[in-house]
Amino acid sequence: ARVARLRIAGFKSFADSTSVEILPGLTGIIGPNGCGKSNIVDALRWAMGEGNARSLRGGEMDDIIFAGTTTRPSRNMAEVTVTLEDALGIIPPPLHEQSELEITRKIERGSGSAYRINGREMRARDVQTLFADMASGARSCAMVGQGRVAAIVNAKPEERRQILEEAAGIAGLSARRHEAELKLRATEANLQRADDMRGQVE
Ligand code: ATP
Repeated sequence: ARVARLRIAGFKSFADSTSVEILPGLTGIIGPNGCGKSNIVDALRWAMGEGNARSLRGGEMDDIIFAGTTTRPSRNMAEVTVTLEDALGIIPPPLHEQSELEITRKIERGSGSAYRINGREMRARDVQTLFADMASGARSCAMVGQGRVAAIVNAKPEERRQILEEAAGIAGLSARRHEAELKLRATEANLQRADDMRGQVE
């Protein structure tokens, strides 16, 4: 699959809806300092499910919503849509037959984020797992922000392992394993409770 387009509305400096086409090959984004080049990359990482506001250069998640300028009022909602092409089979049914996927994350001031894929509501984890499987998650080495090279060199072994796992495309598997383990533990606790109750009845 390939990221073909980004639609950004109300995100950081993008007050109005803006579309960025990413054609095959190399795409460069040029502009003066502070014009919003890094904000485009932040928008992509945010839509991929980045959960840490600080790694998007904010204090809290609502800081990514357009905060207004001297001439324009702030907004209360931000939405970013990533369009993936050649996406056949990269997510489980019922969307596995779609060759184009539109992954949308929306945030409303004070009430958190919601995710949709082709209009269906999804969990953050589903979106994170999708991009982790593509080895291009928000934290992967496919996304190298300013200062990230130094951060990777200086990373602790555990963090570096995460980066390598993401690059190898197995981070999605690890996330699923973790989720399965949590379910298993909850089921074990339920069984234990059922046993206790049976003990009391007998
Ligand atoms: P440089 O070349 O210096 O790295 P850049 O083009 O990458 O710059 P960005 O860091 O993407 O620039 O954009 C910074 C601009 O985004 C600043 O002008 C800042 O005021 C604006 N900005 C960031 N968050 C918001 C927000 N929530 N609302 C409005 N504007 C914002």
